[in-house]
Amino acid sequence: MPQTIACHLLILGAGPAGYTAAIYAARAGLKPRIVAGMQPGGQLTITTEVENFPGFAGPIQGPWLMEQMQAQAEHVGTVIDQDLITEVDLSDRPFRCLADSGNIYMADALVIATGAQARWLGIPGEKELSGFGVSACATCDGFFYRGKDVAVVGGGNSATEETLYLSNLARHVTLIHRRDSLRSEKILQARLFAKPNVSVIWDTAVEAVLADASGRMPVARALALRNLKTGAASELPVHGLFVAIGHDPATALFRGQLDMDAEGYIVTAPGVTRTSIPGVFAAGDVQDKVYRQAVTAAGTGCMAALEAEKFLAALGAETAMAAE
Ligand code: NAP
Repeated sequence: MPQTIACHLLILGAGPAGYTAAIYAARAGLKPRIVAGMQPGGQLTITTEVENFPGFAGPIQGPWLMEQMQAQAEHVGTVIDQDLITEVDLSDRPFRCLADSGNIYMADALVIATGAQARWLGIPGEKELSGFGVSACATCDGFFYRGKDVAVVGGGNSATEETLYLSNLARHVTLIHRRDSLRSEKILQARLFAKPNVSVIWDTAVEAVLADASGRMPVARALALRNLKTGAASELPVHGLFVAIGHDPATALFRGQLDMDAEGYIVTAPGVTRTSIPGVFAAGDVQDKVYRQAVTAAGTGCMAALEAEKFLAALGAETAMAAE
């Protein structure tokens, strides 16, 4: 039977931002509730080794890290519902969130931590070789390609930054773009063109990631390319492909209710996680298109919980005064 569930603090999303918000909120006595959404654990559940989350001397597995965060959130008293919010009404408090199960959540405060998804090319070999030569995060995986040849696909700030980052690790980086000019900031482009171990292939699409299947696990060995002006096909030998063609924040639910930028990221006030609606906070990749790291998501999750705690305390004081 569908139920109506009242809670002080509802957290949408179970990635590093959502779990961290829950850990802090639970320890502050807010009895938080998480609705985990489509991909419990978030983007780290589709990565392999993680070496940049502080606290672990050796590499750890992304899915394991998320299991630990979940267990920690539960251990301090968070209730986690494996459900999906399909509709929200933020026009009045308590905020009303309708779930796929039919349950209705009524929350005094809301932390939105629904994350973002990297866009993929959708070409043969991309999915199969994910984690074995294909990645969407140079900061996360670039270290594994020290001294090797890699390629980056895309032409925006992300692709340019990923190329610059990788140029300090890899032997050679080839940036592949479908047009004949980049859309990234000029200063980034100047840095890119000054790098001796970076080259750019223009007007070209990556059509497939080709595998070397001679070892225990297939790994990337080359890219099948197509020049979009001449139609000529070619092969580029690389050990890794970094896809940097943008991200899509999971914000469709909140469109028209919360302030967002042109790309659909939730706008938060500078230096805090407050959104355009008092009592609604946003943390992690849903509001961050620059850093996008597990540790920065966790950081903003912590901020959201601390801000929600203050908000709820003020709300409690108001309600008590009104009742007097
Ligand atoms: P973006 O600016 O949307 O650029 C995406 C790039 O990928 C474009 O060059 C696009 O080509 C290409 N692309 C898209 N779909 C493709 C496909 N199917 N096949 C091949 N290429 C494809 O995305 P972004 O670079 O991730 O940046 C997103 C936002 O975050 C931007 O506002 C950016 O300024 C911001 N950002 C800022 C920083 C920073 O300030 N340091 C860092 C990263 C990102 P076309 O050019 O032909 O459209």
